[in-house]
Amino acid sequence: MAILLQTGIFLHEKIMYPEETVLTVFALFLGMITGSFLNVVAWRIPRGESIVYPRSRCTSCGVLIRWYDNIPILSWFILRGRCRNCGEHFSFRYALVELITGLLLAGIMLKYGAGILFIRDVVFLSLLVCVILTDIDHWIILDSVSIGGAVAGIVFSILPGGIGIIRSVSTAAAAFLLFFLIRQLSKQILKKKPGYAIAPEGHEDETDEFQGGMGWGDIKLAAMIGAFLGPSATVVALFIAFLTGALTGIAAMIAGRNRRIPIPFGPFLALGAAVSLFIGQEIWSLYLTIGLSY
Ligand SMILES: [Zn+2]
Repeated sequence: MAILLQTGIFLHEKIMYPEETVLTVFALFLGMITGSFLNVVAWRIPRGESIVYPRSRCTSCGVLIRWYDNIPILSWFILRGRCRNCGEHFSFRYALVELITGLLLAGIMLKYGAGILFIRDVVFLSLLVCVILTDIDHWIILDSVSIGGAVAGIVFSILPGGIGIIRSVSTAAAAFLLFFLIRQLSKQILKKKPGYAIAPEGHEDETDEFQGGMGWGDIKLAAMIGAFLGPSATVVALFIAFLTGALTGIAAMIAGRNRRIPIPFGPFLALGAAVSLFIGQEIWSLYLTIGLSY
């Protein structure tokens, strides 16, 4: 009894005293499990498979992956990135996604603490990670992620501490319109060169779609980001997206990449949104300070 009581006090102190540490470690593990789930989502949904059933199997030999071989990050290192049954190599990317998602959630917990806003940011970051994976692999941004995400962003805006429904909806609409205009303009400009772009594998019948550079997926994603972030942080997110996108395009050209092969823009939007979620207000304030001092 005394031991139980002591343990209780010990746990109590542990939670009360370095509360932040406990919560951050919790967020780290939650993030690694979330990342593991996102790997499954990004693999299965574009292939039209269910995300709940069946359980994970080796994509090479089809053997069921045991729970102890499915521990985020750890299993990858224990098995040295190979299937226990057939030895098929699993990409390090799976472990990397788990690690990055874990660090993102830990960062959010450190910055904003536990509460509804933490749940909102977990949802937002999960959607962004999903965008990056499916857009890089399949040139797809799922509607359930972009449109579903926009609805989620609006719902979270009404909850305590949220940005408010008017800011959420109006920013989503403005971002949608801006990207739609960019699409129309770039289509007009690039119209002179039909068949210029080389459509990626699996999208050969949509060559025209890759002519303008801005797909419908990007437009809906911009609206989703606006719904979550509100006006100033969205401006920062889009600025980072266009800047990093342009720099990557230039770097790819210098490295000798064929100009006709497009680069997906979704990952840059997702990156900009994630950076803005952490330091968007700081960048915005800095911008205002510099702007006002002139
Ligand atoms: Zn296998």
